[in-house]
Amino acid sequence: MKKPKHKSALTEVSGVPDTPRLNPSLTKRGLKKRVLPDLNLLVKQLMSGDKIALSRAITLIESSHPKHFALGQEVVKKCLPYAGQSVRIGVTGVPGVGKSTFIESLGRYYTKQGHKVAVLAIDPSSSLSKGSILGDKTRMELLSRDDNAYIRPSPSGNHLGGVARKTRETILLCEAAGFDRIIIETVGVGQSETMVHSMVDFFLLLKLAGAGDELQGIKRGIIEMADLIVINKAEGDNLQPARLAKKAFETALHFYPPKPGGWMPKVMLASALYQEGIVDVANVINAYIEQMQNNDFFKENRMEQNKFWLYETINQTLQNRFFEDEKTKMLLADLIKKIENNQITAFEAAEILLNSTLQK
Ligand code: GDP
Repeated sequence: MKKPKHKSALTEVSGVPDTPRLNPSLTKRGLKKRVLPDLNLLVKQLMSGDKIALSRAITLIESSHPKHFALGQEVVKKCLPYAGQSVRIGVTGVPGVGKSTFIESLGRYYTKQGHKVAVLAIDPSSSLSKGSILGDKTRMELLSRDDNAYIRPSPSGNHLGGVARKTRETILLCEAAGFDRIIIETVGVGQSETMVHSMVDFFLLLKLAGAGDELQGIKRGIIEMADLIVINKAEGDNLQPARLAKKAFETALHFYPPKPGGWMPKVMLASALYQEGIVDVANVINAYIEQMQNNDFFKENRMEQNKFWLYETINQTLQNRFFEDEKTKMLLADLIKKIENNQITAFEAAEILLNSTLQK
């Protein structure tokens, strides 16, 4: 070991060299294989609320390694009978609206009330690039230090369907680990809001007050999905515009029929940064859940969501298998050439391809 030239406190010592492996033939892969956890032990630890075990289980279901993935599925199966006992809340809004701040405030309120809070994210940008809209910044620092909170960043994936499946399974694992408030955060990009809406009991849209043009530029369909619209940053000079925005949204909501469970969506003001309006939001969520449980819509909605995911998964799997087939790929390339040469119509080509593949 070289001696450091200067004895300055800033000089790094090179440290002690690694001891040689006892078994030199043991590769890194071999080591990895050995650490595959024991199924029953992992489930036991997870069910006792151990966050490390929960993280390991989630890593398994997110894994593309077939053995890890298979083990993850076993964990999900074992946890399923103990899942479901939570309130699942979706939170959406454009970047900068205050989602992290809001979720941190709401989450901390919940943990103070004795709840266990899991925060999951669906970030459509993480599948396109390694960067992300949701995950880059240091987020929810206080909540992440809370023993009764668990924060998991968005799983990555090539398509949103895969990300959705992982998130759905993560919800079940968190529930089995005793988390009774699951908050799922997303940004309003592509289909991510619809996806989150179809996996939560309560959907909350965060907005900022504009200059009286609140409804301009708002994505179609988002108002129908929201159970509650919260105008955030409603404090100081922003309070008056926020009140006007509230009115504008309330007026707009009048034009929509009540939601299937009979709920009339609400509009509220909050200041996530100053923790104002958070208790009121939590109370509205409670009132919603109570009403929906009383009229059975809560259960019905979850059942409908299960069926939706059943079909969604079948469609996705069929599509993947279809296009991954080597013969299909070759025939498809051939048919595309024919279409380009005007020898065949797109419909004819599709029929030929489907007939040839589905007859197998
Ligand atoms: P996200 O991108 O939607 O997750 O938004 P963040 O939670 O990261 O918030 C974006 C910025 O808005 C941060 O600088 C926050 O401190 C600030 N912010 C969030 N909520 C409020 C609020 O209620 N009032 C004020 N004044 N600022 C807020």
